[in-house]
Amino acid sequence: MLRIHNSLAREKQAFTPIEPGKVRMYVCGLTVYDYFHIGNARTLTVFDMVYRWLTAAGYEVKYVRNITDVDDKIIDRANKNGEPIEALTSRMVTAMHEDCDRLLMLRPSAEPRATQHIDNMLGLIGDLVTNGKAYPASNGDVYYAVREFPGYGKLSGKSIDDLRAGERVAVDGHKRDPLDFVLWKAAKPQEPHWCSHYGEGRPGWHIECSAMSRAELGETLDIHGGGWDLQFPHHENEIAQSEGASGKPFVNYWMHAAFLNMDNEKMSKSLGNVFTTRAVLDKLDPVQGGEAVRFFLLRGHYRSEINYTWDILQDARGALVSLYTALRDVPPAEFELDWTEPYAKRFFDAMCDDFNTPMAFAVLFELRNEINRTRDAKLSALLCALGGTLGFLQADPAAFVQGEAAGDEAAEIDALIAARNEAKKAKNFAEADRIRDEIKARGIVLEDGAGGTTWRRA
Ligand SMILES: [Zn+2]
Repeated sequence: MLRIHNSLAREKQAFTPIEPGKVRMYVCGLTVYDYFHIGNARTLTVFDMVYRWLTAAGYEVKYVRNITDVDDKIIDRANKNGEPIEALTSRMVTAMHEDCDRLLMLRPSAEPRATQHIDNMLGLIGDLVTNGKAYPASNGDVYYAVREFPGYGKLSGKSIDDLRAGERVAVDGHKRDPLDFVLWKAAKPQEPHWCSHYGEGRPGWHIECSAMSRAELGETLDIHGGGWDLQFPHHENEIAQSEGASGKPFVNYWMHAAFLNMDNEKMSKSLGNVFTTRAVLDKLDPVQGGEAVRFFLLRGHYRSEINYTWDILQDARGALVSLYTALRDVPPAEFELDWTEPYAKRFFDAMCDDFNTPMAFAVLFELRNEINRTRDAKLSALLCALGGTLGFLQADPAAFVQGEAAGDEAAEIDALIAARNEAKKAKNFAEADRIRDEIKARGIVLEDGAGGTTWRRA
């Protein structure tokens, strides 16, 4: 019933989990040295959507997303800040959770940290050395020997020779082949390190995911996800490590989320267009912002690049407000979700077709139009329930539509509306217009309807 585009097979395939009804899903998480940027937010939100949909479709999902808490960037940043590494990483893990919460993400089932799995990484490295897929070098590093793994390149679709020709790999006398990658790095002064059979050192980045996914989910996973850019070398190396050690397929379905561009340009430090998710959220209305960004991030299909501009973000916010406005105007009836109902079925089919959120969102907008036309409370409940499967439309509609103004300002606006109604009744139209303009200047739109005047944030 569910079809997933498998990056390894390069096609959509029917999804069959290893164990019926259960899904083992691993997603590469963040390196916690700074606030995460809006491109990271896309990948995280896409896999939160996948997690929610698999759950809504009836699967019991174990969702593991790792935290890289030892790495060059972390060490550099901690040194620059003059703080211990653990202080930096624990602060950034807290910030990551805050930002993920604002984007209405569910916490994964497990969030293993690299520093808590050093023994598992050393165990895996030991297995690879024993079966001839890895070798300790004279400098204290341990490398993976890519020539010893026949499948190397199968995810990225490149042969080792193509990769070598295309790589500008520095000559390193300790490696047997320039594409060999490090599993264990010999300790350098002033850096965190652990004892091992190969001497003091710390793990390379790639081994982390192979070791933690094996510890949490076993040797073969149903789904492994990550950003598009991780396919090579990171995921290629994960396959080499995991399959090189177990001799079994590592992942049945590889999923990759496409890039988010900034105003049609690739995000890059040199262009100065890398925005943290936190900075974007802080510029938005606090009531609407998180869900609006989430809506924007999922409005495009996860395998298509999406473009970020302030206007596109505001457009997504407006579209979301229009869904909430329908829910406010026609309060949902008591209701149980029935997937055979025609709207529900179309939504279900769209999501089961490789998580086609643009098509699923189109169903929500059709429902909105019909609710506005028919004022059917059952359809309103259906809209709320369908949106809810993807983490949307669960806030109080009246408060959401009014946004931040729903607090202290709300009473003032209600008083102004009452004064305007009085002026109209007294046929003092100049005064009524003056009050309307004053309300408008606050960024509030009045909606005169049969049931009186309501208002929302423009
Ligand atoms: Zn990974």
